[in-house]
Amino acid sequence: MALRRSLYKTPAQLRAMVEPGLITAAALDAVREIIAPGVTTEELDAAASAVILARGAESNFQLVRGYRHTTCVSVNDQVVHGIPGARVLEAGDIVSIDAGAQFEGWNGDSAITLVVPDAARPELVAARTRLSEVTEGSLWAGIAALASAGRVGEIGDAVQGHIERAARADGATYGILRDYVGHGIGRKMHEGPTVFNYRVDDLGPAVRPGLCLAIEPMVTAGSDETFVEDDDWTVTTVDGSDGSHWEHSVAVHEHGIWVLTAADGGAAGLAPFGVTPTPIA
Ligand code: MG
Ligand code: MG
Repeated sequence: MALRRSLYKTPAQLRAMVEPGLITAAALDAVREIIAPGVTTEELDAAASAVILARGAESNFQLVRGYRHTTCVSVNDQVVHGIPGARVLEAGDIVSIDAGAQFEGWNGDSAITLVVPDAARPELVAARTRLSEVTEGSLWAGIAALASAGRVGEIGDAVQGHIERAARADGATYGILRDYVGHGIGRKMHEGPTVFNYRVDDLGPAVRPGLCLAIEPMVTAGSDETFVEDDDWTVTTVDGSDGSHWEHSVAVHEHGIWVLTAADGGAAGLAPFGVTPTPIA
């Protein structure tokens, strides 16, 4: 009989989640530093990998069956699960990078979207930067909701509400992927519960100290319809619209919330929502 893992971690287990979160954040910082036109997606992957190994951790993506890379790198109409390789980044590309580290048996998982500078096409860069900002904003709205939520499903309500308000403000259409979701995180990168990025009727489990969630909205500048490319991994929009993916691993503890994959615990991202993160003691 399999032992059912509790959704709620002990204070000691929460403390063990801090370092893998920081290593994951550092791996993505390394990607930010080198992204530029002419860089390949496998070079981004190598930069993240070097940080994870140097800090005595391992890539938890490589623990996923059939996956051999440290990151997923998704470019332009690819939203998530792009495989790093020989693709050369071009000026103006919108690039989502997802990475995770396992350290001493505990996991971090985080994703960012970056737009490669392109001085010749300011309108393209502005539109893609806005998509990334809207997606990141929806992530912070979801994290902020977690701070006072009674049930996990309130996160999706906040994420969707943020996207809907942005669409009205911009006179734009944004799609939230429905076939892919966030998750609990701990001993394994992917644990229960499911964290939806949209409103659901069943609000799911209670939010209580010890809950650790990876919240990860995946948003397009068009329809939410996607397909999986012939490589069996890459998730791409059917209408060719751009995609963005932002993710953080977040802990709920006795004194508040703490964003494990942000060096400041999420202070900057949560400030616009009037939420102050509290370090895990
Ligand atoms: Mg991820
Ligand atoms: Mg994840």
